[in-house]
Amino acid sequence: MAATLVFRLHDRGPELLREVLLERGWEEYDEGEQEEEDWNLYWRGSAFHSSQYHNLLPWQRLNHHPKTAGITRKDFLARNLRRMRVASGSALYDFSPTGFILPSDYTRFLAEYNQLHLTSGESVYWICKPVDLSRGRGIFIFKDIKDLVYDCSVIVQRYISDPLLISGYKFDLRIYVCVKSFHPLTVYIHQEGLVRFATEKYNLSSLHNLYAHLTNTSINKFGPFYKAEKERVGPGCKWTLSKFRHFLNSQEVSQLVFWQRINNIVTLTLLTIAPTVPPCPNCVELFGFDILIDVRLKPWLLEVNYSPALTLDCQTDITVKKGLISDLVDLMNYTSIDSLRERAYLKHRHKQPCFHATQSSRVPIPALSKFKGPKFKKKRSGIQSSQTQILPLGSQRPVTIPLKGTRAVKEQHVPPLRVGGFIRTFPFNTATLKASQHKLDVKVIIQELHKLTAHLAPGQSDKTKQRREEHTDGAEDFESLLWGPKDPPLLSQLSITSKEVEL
Ligand code: ADP
Repeated sequence: MAATLVFRLHDRGPELLREVLLERGWEEYDEGEQEEEDWNLYWRGSAFHSSQYHNLLPWQRLNHHPKTAGITRKDFLARNLRRMRVASGSALYDFSPTGFILPSDYTRFLAEYNQLHLTSGESVYWICKPVDLSRGRGIFIFKDIKDLVYDCSVIVQRYISDPLLISGYKFDLRIYVCVKSFHPLTVYIHQEGLVRFATEKYNLSSLHNLYAHLTNTSINKFGPFYKAEKERVGPGCKWTLSKFRHFLNSQEVSQLVFWQRINNIVTLTLLTIAPTVPPCPNCVELFGFDILIDVRLKPWLLEVNYSPALTLDCQTDITVKKGLISDLVDLMNYTSIDSLRERAYLKHRHKQPCFHATQSSRVPIPALSKFKGPKFKKKRSGIQSSQTQILPLGSQRPVTIPLKGTRAVKEQHVPPLRVGGFIRTFPFNTATLKASQHKLDVKVIIQELHKLTAHLAPGQSDKTKQRREEHTDGAEDFESLLWGPKDPPLLSQLSITSKEVEL
């Protein structure tokens, strides 16, 4: 019998993860009992040190990829999106409100402010946010530049002043995105997520009322109306994404394009950093994408959260986050090999840790001198040697064990369509699979996103659709689901019967 899988939590949290893993029969790492390397998952809310990536062993997983701050820090995200807007076209990268990093962009902000003041006058609003704070801390909304006061680095953004409201309440969506790997880029989005409401009715004449303008739970749970039964919204400040789907149905909203636009935001945002993230096959990361929807149903990216909150404030949190974490563990793809840990490693002489430095990162891979001697521990005495035989023998390559359900298309591995509530959103066809296998071909990926979006757009004539189908490279080999709608449809089905698919 294989040894139990072991998890290691930094700073004792998050409690939800501990609970889920213990329920699944995992064991918590204990410094006194276990050796330094004797764990399968190390989870931190903050970043890992670079040495922790370099020394990662085949049975170990970390919950962050290296160097993802490029999308998770507000100022870095703004810069990266601006760079992509220039390189790939503003029409595509038009999902983030215009933003300025102050003080460095002050002159540019002033020019834009004056210009808009002349053309749009009273109807322009701005929001100011400290770049390295979260949970709504330090945020304020203003109209007049004389009210812009700051004493740290901030981002000033166009305030989306016409959000979609539900019974007069503002809300945003927390979408959970798992980047299974950056090389090749493999992305899953969870079907369940959160709708986070403001707890007072939206009103542009009270810009100081944060309970009406901000949707952070950390703020609204202290609001006077948090517990009150609010029209349609109910008590508290959260819905599940499933409940939001019902709401959209009741409004007879055409959902295909809506969900695909959010899909595109996720992929296009990840593309801004994907080429520069060093490969680390044993890392998995859960990001929280915050999306605001305006009255025209256009989704806007507000920010990407590095360690989305896993605290449980209400029943909605329990429903959403418990399933999410359980599916995330499945996505991490632990197999019996992982529970063999060091013994299997020594037996098959893997001499290399999992981290792979790219030319761009130029990080030397240290030798694993400490793994030379036959060092077995009592904890693993129950391991049967036969189980070690499925390890890739003597491999000098990182151990990338295919996930259950993985298929090969023209000798390339296609990750499974879905794992629990996680739907694979990238790659979504043969062309994007190819474009992400070696050096990421951002141009091809963007072209494919264009094609797919055009394909789903209402009013496409059957002839145009047919022409597109003829040009879709190898579509018949490659199944993909459209993340978002209830019972996500296959993209291949949509090409024929998009109007008939039940949302
Ligand atoms: P934080 O990291 O502090 O949560 P966010 O960027 O997520 O910062 O902003 C907090 C909240 O402020 C959001 O959840 C949203 O309700 C509101 N908000 C942020 N930016 C905008 C914007 N540009 N337009 C409208 N509302 C915004």
